[in-house]
Amino acid sequence: KKLSISASTGSSAASGDRRVQELRLDQIRRPLQGTRTNDPKKVKQLVDSIAEIGLQEPIDVLEVEGKYYGFSGCHRYEAHQQLGKETILCKVRRASKTTLKMHMM
Ligand code: ADP
Repeated sequence: KKLSISASTGSSAASGDRRVQELRLDQIRRPLQGTRTNDPKKVKQLVDSIAEIGLQEPIDVLEVEGKYYGFSGCHRYEAHQQLGKETILCKVRRASKTTLKMHMM
C-alpha cells in the first residue's frame, strides 16, 4: 500500500495509467459520500498531523472518461476540507466504466 511518488510514476508496467498529482477537492466526485460517515476523532488527528507534516500518503482516485472518482481516503479528504486546502495529492489510476460500476456497488 505504501507507494512512494517516484515508484508510482516510475517505469513500471502500469506507468501511463497511474500518476501522482494534485487535484482540486471539488474535482473529485465522491459517489458513496453520505452512505458512510467518517470517524471525527480520526479526522481530527489527521488535521493535526497533516498541518504539521503534510499528507504522507496520497489518496487513491480513479479517472474515468476525464472525470475523477474517490472511494477511499475519506478521512484524509475531510481533513483537507477542514484545513481549508484547495487541493489534495492523489494517486490517479485510469480505469474503465466497468471498473467504476464495480466500485459503485
Ligand atoms: P482514510 O479514510 O483517509 O483512508 P484512515 O484513517 O483509514 O483514513 O487512514 C489514514 C491514512 O492516512 C493512513 O493510510 C496514513 O498512512 C495516511 N496519512 C497520510 N498522511 C498522514 C499524516 N500526515 N498523518 C497521519 N496519517 C497520514
